[in-house]
Amino acid sequence: MPPRHLYIHVPFCARRCSYCDFSIAVRSSTPVEEYTSALRAELASGVIRGSTLDTVYLGGGTPSRLGGLGVADVLTSVRDHASIAADGEITIEANPDDVNDVAVAQWVTAGVNRVSLGSQSFDDSVLEWMHRTHDAPQISRAVKALRRGGISNISLDLIFALPDTLKRSWERDLTLALDLEPAHVSLYGLTVEAHTPIARWRDRGAIVEGSEDTYEQEFLLAHELMVNAGFVHYEVSNFARPGRASHHNSAYWTGAPYAGVGPSAHSFDGASRRWNVSAYSKWVRCLADGQSVLAGAETLTEENREAEEVYLGLRTRNGLQIDATEVDTTARWIDAGWAELDGSQLRLTPLGWLRLDSLAADLVARRTRKLDEVLSPTPSHCYI
Ligand code: SF4
Repeated sequence: MPPRHLYIHVPFCARRCSYCDFSIAVRSSTPVEEYTSALRAELASGVIRGSTLDTVYLGGGTPSRLGGLGVADVLTSVRDHASIAADGEITIEANPDDVNDVAVAQWVTAGVNRVSLGSQSFDDSVLEWMHRTHDAPQISRAVKALRRGGISNISLDLIFALPDTLKRSWERDLTLALDLEPAHVSLYGLTVEAHTPIARWRDRGAIVEGSEDTYEQEFLLAHELMVNAGFVHYEVSNFARPGRASHHNSAYWTGAPYAGVGPSAHSFDGASRRWNVSAYSKWVRCLADGQSVLAGAETLTEENREAEEVYLGLRTRNGLQIDATEVDTTARWIDAGWAELDGSQLRLTPLGWLRLDSLAADLVARRTRKLDEVLSPTPSHCYI
């Protein structure tokens, strides 16, 4: 079946944020024509031929660095090879400092109907520490420009669990985000990844990572404030007003097939996963030379599928269907307030989401053992 979801990786950023280990290309000026030409060549290879796309997601990096016309060019190339459903969701990730009336008008004309704004904090000193390219007032200016241009489906990203020394008020940031009345909010706990500026700061003792207690308190405070404000906590990191959940990300969480184009983009056809070369310059060169940009592929085993089903199910509010043999296993989760059982549907609570990895690993281990027993049953006869 042709994929119904398309991810387009746009790798450009003006500078690297202090916490970021994504596959990006730091450029002071964005090579829009070079990128859109290479993308046209990749799309012409047939990855979305015959598709009717329900969602298109331009992620990065910073897709808004393509400007209004660059984004329009990308979407024209997509339409050259596939249809986009009349009610299709077309999202771009944007930095607040790239949002202005001209760009918004061009995005809307091109079909963009959802914008995910990289806000991260409303505290200027924190934004500076993060090496963000915008300040706090630019966030509300961007939201106003998006609304003026006709985009109401606006998501804000915020980061929590920052080092205590920054003295960031998480409650103030959440309140200021809610004051902007977004349709959707994504919250990410700060993790210190290798080879990032903050990893170097930590290694030389200049910062101490936020504690587990801070992480837990801020996650639970966010859940409380957001739910009280009318949002549905529909996935471990995501909150939406009713009817405003991200269709694109929800497709990932249900295991739907998707195509990915651009450097480092991943694709999934329902059985196997493929991924592109990650370096931007190599991706451009391969396409210019008519070579494949495929860097690797893996076919999911039964065990992989079980693990994915458990992780994806438990991270969403929809939850995971369990069978009678798993009810005993999960009873203690319910006693501890980590999960709820609705018929045979098991859902993690916010307290459970704080333990998502270990709870999912526990269930995966049990399912894998059961699978092994089915695939390699213990001999019932003794051959002497
Ligand atoms: S804007 Fe996003 S992708 Fe770019 S450096 Fe910052 S966090 Fe990374």
